[in-house]
Amino acid sequence: MPKVRIVLILFWMICFGESAIAKTELPSEQEISKTADKALRYLKESDFEKSLIVSRVALQQALIVKNNNLIAVSYNIIAANYNEFSEFDKAIYYYKKALSFANRTTNNILKNRINNNLGNMYCFEKKQYKKGIEFYKKSLEYSKKEKDSALVYLININITWAYFDIGEFKLALPYFNYINKHHKERFNESTIVVFNMLNGMYYSHVNDKTKANAYFIEAIKHGKIGTEKSDLLYSYIEYSKFLNKIGDYKQAYENIIKHNAVKENIYNEEKLKKAERAGFNLELDEYKRQIGKIEIEKGVQDLSLRKSRIIVLLFILTSCIFLILIVTLYKNVVFKKRTNAKLLFTNEELIKAKEQAEEASVLKTQFISTISHELRTPLYGVVGITNMLLEEHKELAKSQHLSSLKFSARYLLSLVNDILQINKIEENKVVLESLTFNISDEINMIKNSLSFLSQKNNNQIAVIIDSDIPEYLIGDKLRFAQILMNLVSNALKFTKNGEVFIIADLIKIVGKAHFIEFQVKDTGMGIAVIDQDKIFEKFVQVGRNEEDYQGTGLGLTIVKRLLGLFGSSISLESNIGEGTVFTFTIAFDYDPEKTKSIINDIQVDLTSNQKFKVLVVEDNLINQLVTRKIIEKNNYSCTVVDDGYAALEILDMESFDVVLMDINMPMMNGFETTRKIRLKGIKTPIVALTAFDKDEITEEAISAGINDIIIKPFESIKLFKIINCLIVETKNVDCDVNV
Ligand code: ADP
Repeated sequence: MPKVRIVLILFWMICFGESAIAKTELPSEQEISKTADKALRYLKESDFEKSLIVSRVALQQALIVKNNNLIAVSYNIIAANYNEFSEFDKAIYYYKKALSFANRTTNNILKNRINNNLGNMYCFEKKQYKKGIEFYKKSLEYSKKEKDSALVYLININITWAYFDIGEFKLALPYFNYINKHHKERFNESTIVVFNMLNGMYYSHVNDKTKANAYFIEAIKHGKIGTEKSDLLYSYIEYSKFLNKIGDYKQAYENIIKHNAVKENIYNEEKLKKAERAGFNLELDEYKRQIGKIEIEKGVQDLSLRKSRIIVLLFILTSCIFLILIVTLYKNVVFKKRTNAKLLFTNEELIKAKEQAEEASVLKTQFISTISHELRTPLYGVVGITNMLLEEHKELAKSQHLSSLKFSARYLLSLVNDILQINKIEENKVVLESLTFNISDEINMIKNSLSFLSQKNNNQIAVIIDSDIPEYLIGDKLRFAQILMNLVSNALKFTKNGEVFIIADLIKIVGKAHFIEFQVKDTGMGIAVIDQDKIFEKFVQVGRNEEDYQGTGLGLTIVKRLLGLFGSSISLESNIGEGTVFTFTIAFDYDPEKTKSIINDIQVDLTSNQKFKVLVVEDNLINQLVTRKIIEKNNYSCTVVDDGYAALEILDMESFDVVLMDINMPMMNGFETTRKIRLKGIKTPIVALTAFDKDEITEEAISAGINDIIIKPFESIKLFKIINCLIVETKNVDCDVNV
């Protein structure tokens, strides 16, 4: 196509112009200029692939050195490459890029070429004539500035042709006139054909048939001679259009035929070119693919670079953490070592302290046990002799001193017992027992045993037992009785002319466990709210006056501790002057089978009017006296010996129904004596009569062959109950006596 040819002419010129400029630049820019020249050479040789590669290299370098001239030149070559293989959009894109950089320079030649090339693109490829003509006009301005008359001529041709193509002959006139005016000095092989053709077109338009005909014939003549056959092709077409217009259809047809023949030739050439281009396009595709591949690889490399950076970063981070950890670990180890050493030292100290505490605890227990034993023994005497005095000398019953003595002795005794009990609970030595018992009997027994206290303060005791509570229950009745006894005796002590209620309610049943809520309620003096927590502490007594001084201040402490053993607690509701209610719940087991057997056994008659022979082995003279009195008072015969040897001797000679054996005796203690008696084969029941605590001696007593234990001082009724029971037992009758 003629315009392409014009482009190429311009292009070469750009190249030479740029090279000239580049040579004045820095050496590196000279290099770039050389590279651009090379790219241009490849383009001329139709080696587009190389041209593109080299032009891109030139572009990159130009971009690095920021040389706008060279950047524009490189873009221009790239655009021309795309133009060559008909990728016009891309060509326009790169031409515009080239123009934007060229506009930043003062290089008018460059601006002129690029504007012209863009004019070609828009007019003859995109058929956007107006836009294209604008670029041509700009190009014309620059060529005028540069006073390049050859170029001015060529651009005038292009503008004229563009206007003619769209039928704007009037607008084309200045340009048309210019080319006609300067034709003679500017014509060459390529422009002469177009010049004549344009004149033909013009005169055809103004209906000057003769002139038009002459110009067209001239154009065809030169076209046939010239090498650029596409100009001839256009000349044939325009001539044919003219002939058609004047009605010479035959000639018009012939010219079309000629046109077709030339076109075929050109077409074949074009075909070849196209084939080349197609080949190149394939190469180009490959090239693009490779670039894509490289880009992907680059992306992957970037990614892996980023990854490896992250890995390095992580590694550094981990190393730091590791280092910190090691340092911390080291510090920890050092610290641990120090702490361990300290701990070891402290542990040793603690072990020592523990041993000391254990020792102290053992000592305390031993001390309490010894003291209580040592206290109980004389107390047994004091209480016993006081009783004897009162019984034997009825006239002394009213003696204030004697009754004070009796009270003090009893008080001392209960104090010793309470301290001993608390000590035992604190030492975890108390284990609850499971005994079958009649609950209402137990409660009534407590009521009866406290009747003297109720009479003293003129109180009434009422027992209210829920009928749903089974008659026989299983549990530690002794501890239960102790709890109730403490609470009821308190209620009776702190109530005057009032009432005391013992209430038992079944509140729930879980399996065998029957949860019974007990309430001890009185209408007495009440307890101030601020004192209500205090009273459960040891030795606390509140709002008491000297005259009714009774109790040790340990009762409620024991109650609380005992209930703790039952897994229960106590609550209290009271106000001054409004009476007091103590409430607690105990779960007793109920077993119908056991109850049945108990009921069957209950028929046993324990009462006996027989006169039994009792041997008392006791070293303490006062105690001998007291025990003898008690036994003889019950009409039993009593023989007293001072020690174990005497006991063994007398037992060889005489038989007794029961032996009451003191444990703490000089020379040979009670256990030893019993063992010896049993070795002799004597089966007489032996009851240990001791001031020791029962739990402390039970084990040894059983192994020695002792049948039961009774703690001094004792209620005489208890003693006889045990004696009777043991004697009945030897006759193989079951007997439930627990002291
Ligand atoms: P005490 O042996 O002095 O009775 P307790 O531990 O049994 O010791 O009781 C502590 C104190 O609680 C009593 O001294 C008394 O002040 C008060 N207290 C206990 N029960 C009652 C009650 N039912 N009514 C009024 N005060 C009571």
